[in-house]
Amino acid sequence: MSPRPESALAWIGLGGNLGEPRSAMSMALDQLNNDEEIELEAVSSFYRTAPIGITDQPDFINSVARLRTTYQPEALLEKLLAVEANLGRVRSEQQFGPRVLDLDLLLFDQVQMDTARLTLPHPRMHLRRFVLEPLYELEGEMTLPGGRGLSDCLEQVRGQSAVREHSAKSAG
Ligand code: AMP
Repeated sequence: MSPRPESALAWIGLGGNLGEPRSAMSMALDQLNNDEEIELEAVSSFYRTAPIGITDQPDFINSVARLRTTYQPEALLEKLLAVEANLGRVRSEQQFGPRVLDLDLLLFDQVQMDTARLTLPHPRMHLRRFVLEPLYELEGEMTLPGGRGLSDCLEQVRGQSAVREHSAKSAG
């Protein structure tokens, strides 16, 4: 499918630490790519990450994907939440606690917004090596909305763990 002219680029963060997070993430990417408003362009390697906050839980597996989409940001978020629900995420889980699958909308072009439903860029992405490292793997240096460079953000979080495992899957 060739993207329509009004399409945007969006980056999503995927993560999980219960059951089989790698297969949940691969299934989530398939479900997103099967949507005619979404084209999966690239997927980073998987990264193994020590849990932050509640440390008495299994390591997380994280990755970042780049999508081309004709959805508006809010509609893309709804789609991510629907895919999470399909794959068994129970939304009453505690924040930062164990989860089958977490999908975050990290970036949507250069959009900056802050509503009750959606904050862009994702408000904690610049604090998390497990987001910044796979994003850097995909894009190299890039300017984030607001003007900060990705490598500059990454420098600030080098102390956190994020061990690269292997390629998640090839897009296309
Ligand atoms: P969490 O369970 O911690 O991933 O939070 C999910 C909730 O955060 C969703 O119901 C969204 O309404 C809200 N939210 C706000 N901004 C974002 C974003 N950029 N990506 C994902 N969820 C967001």
